[in-house]
Amino acid sequence: MDTVIVLSYIASAVLFIFGLKMMSRASTAVRGNLLSALGMGIAVVATLVDRQILAYHWILIGIVIGTIIGAITAVRVPMTSMPEFVALFNGSGGIASLFVGWVEYHNHFGAYEGFTGATAVPLIATYLAVLIGGVTFTGSVTAYAKLAEKINSRPFLFGGQQVVTGLLLALTLASGVLFLIDPNSTLAYAALMGVVGLSLVLGVMVTIPIGGADMPVVISLLNSYSGLAGCAAGFVIGNTVLIVSGSLVGASGIVLTNIMCKAMNRSLANVLFSGFGSAAAATGHGKGAQGEVKPITAEDAYYVLEAASSVVIVPGYGLAVAQAQHIVHELGTILEHNGTEVKYAIHPVAGRMPGHMNVLLAEANVPYEQLVEMDAINPTMATVDVAIVIGANDVVNPAAREDKISPIYGMPIINVDHARTVFVLKRSMASGFAGIENPLFYKENTRMLFGDAKKSVTLLVEQFKTA
Ligand code: NDP
Repeated sequence: MDTVIVLSYIASAVLFIFGLKMMSRASTAVRGNLLSALGMGIAVVATLVDRQILAYHWILIGIVIGTIIGAITAVRVPMTSMPEFVALFNGSGGIASLFVGWVEYHNHFGAYEGFTGATAVPLIATYLAVLIGGVTFTGSVTAYAKLAEKINSRPFLFGGQQVVTGLLLALTLASGVLFLIDPNSTLAYAALMGVVGLSLVLGVMVTIPIGGADMPVVISLLNSYSGLAGCAAGFVIGNTVLIVSGSLVGASGIVLTNIMCKAMNRSLANVLFSGFGSAAAATGHGKGAQGEVKPITAEDAYYVLEAASSVVIVPGYGLAVAQAQHIVHELGTILEHNGTEVKYAIHPVAGRMPGHMNVLLAEANVPYEQLVEMDAINPTMATVDVAIVIGANDVVNPAAREDKISPIYGMPIINVDHARTVFVLKRSMASGFAGIENPLFYKENTRMLFGDAKKSVTLLVEQFKTA
């Protein structure tokens, strides 16, 4: 039986690795996802038939509760709320690892031979599972609250914040030493409980100072933490498949964090420790954007589009809110039939989760070859007749280039303002997630097409159809 379980775990690990590799390309991503799900299914069944399980009733209760929560979430949560729910699921992984570490320690309390060569790995793993798991849990809940706009997405800063966080970190490390020195002592148990509390506070403390525009980095980092916590939990209970899957999530999360940092042109240390945003971000302003706003009707926008030989569509979070992806694809197809070259420019942090725009446009069957990344589209922007910005704001904000005191100064953007004409489709003059004004709306070549993106694009499509 043991051999069957080990073989099943190896099969799951192989499926996870191939699944992950296939997810790196849009054309194979769906199959990659299915392959990984199959791997997870095998791992769950193998774990459930493992002889170490003494009774199934608690497991069954867990399965029932989890299934009910999962089913209700799947049915009731709209697609637009997916990013914040992904954050919550990350947090669930974190708290699960914390409990695994705690329960394993509790069960073996008094039976350790002290901190020896044999106990070092499980004890250090217990400490890490509790620490990283706790930080992941409250960090993810804070990220959820920011993404769901339950709390302000701007950075929350107070005097001496970095000192307080540093002190908490030092206390967490000291508690770890106390825990490891004599794991059978009551002091060690108390120290581990201290780590539980401190890690939960640390998770909040490291996430609240991060401003809206920097949240992609934090989300991918928390993603990575949830994997590392799972990996540590795998070492605690000696489960190889948990170690492998945890390290895969941890490593891919780090790679994603690196990609997000590059996309924002910032180092990880700068995002985490600069108290991003300072006074400018706290007030939500750089230089006040100035000039005249020039609204346009769908009818007038149609005449410009009808005559355009190249159009670049730039989607953002508002596209997801409006669920306008299908009608946008229809507009793109109509423009192409009209002889216009159409491309979709994708900013790496557009939307509210990594890859958000790619997923939305893939759902509407926009051909993958028409999607162009920011670095590739920017050099061509000056030759583009019309840039249509659909529900994007921060990722096209020229303040990132022009305004040195702007909180997003230095972040690469899609240079839509370099196009001959820019149409911005949004409902109002409201700011984006970073909470800052956008001078694009006042530029000479910008026209604002106000209204819900789906309605506005539908009106444009109707103009083409009735012409
Ligand atoms: P933004 O959040 O900057 O702007 C979205 C715009 O969409 C808003 O200004 C809003 O204006 C408009 N909008 C909302 N609903 C509609 C609608 N129904 N129809 C038309 N417009 C609508 O989005 P971006 O994609 O430009 O930028 C993403 C931001 O989120 C960045 O700051 C990024 O750092 C951050 N972020 C990204 C994450 C990621 O992983 N991608 C994760 C976390 C944060 P109005 O209300 O006037 O309509």
